[in-house]
Amino acid sequence: MASAEPNLYNMNILISNDDGIYSPGILALAEVASQFGSVKIVAPDVEQSSMGHAITASRPLTYRRTKIKDFEAFRVNGTPADCVSLGCFHSEKVDLVLSGVNLGTNLGNSMWHSGTLAAAKQAALLGIKGVAFSTPSSREEIDFEPIKPYIAQVLDFLVTETSPSLVNVNLPPQPRGIRWARQSVRHYDGLVKPSHDPMGREHFWFTVVPIEETEKDTDRWAMENGLVSLTPLRLDLTDDEALQRMLAKDVFPISGEKDA
Ligand code: MN
Repeated sequence: MASAEPNLYNMNILISNDDGIYSPGILALAEVASQFGSVKIVAPDVEQSSMGHAITASRPLTYRRTKIKDFEAFRVNGTPADCVSLGCFHSEKVDLVLSGVNLGTNLGNSMWHSGTLAAAKQAALLGIKGVAFSTPSSREEIDFEPIKPYIAQVLDFLVTETSPSLVNVNLPPQPRGIRWARQSVRHYDGLVKPSHDPMGREHFWFTVVPIEETEKDTDRWAMENGLVSLTPLRLDLTDDEALQRMLAKDVFPISGEKDA
């Protein structure tokens, strides 16, 4: 509930992330979001990157009030999805949930692992519009100023439209435009690499290395061309084509039941 910026839509906006509440990315997002309404930050107390859509079910959740510049903020001992649920529980009304800006892209298959996207997905599960933002982390210190106007442009469009209600956004360091793009899922390099610690004990790193080949019109392709990629997503994972094919085949007929 801060900022002297004009409040364009007077929305109640909940912001989370998976890098932890003290990440510079969440402050950058809150600063842009405050142009659109009242901002409340509810985010993990420590980094929860690659935790996906995990929820904490075997121990209680607690939170503490903290300060992120002038924004009302709460740090939670849980996952990004926990934070969105807890934040919505403690708010009278949440119109929009934003996640990020993640320090690292969430393109293609990495969406399956992303805690950043999970916060937005949790919003969608609760019937609230969710938008996730990510930017490459390879630079020394991320300068958020060049991407802030693009975040504002994306929000300006999404808050006035009812659909899509779940969007994954990736922003190149110096965007030159915005592009709707498909999730690139064809290639996946999720390798386990064995190594040794200084004491000579074997250990393992799970590595997800970006793939070489890029399909046109995908999120990765847009980013490689300096464009902000917007990917509309859905919660229903059903493979409709396969479902219809399996139903038509009637592979497991139930005895005594006639085809409807
Ligand atoms: Mn992260």
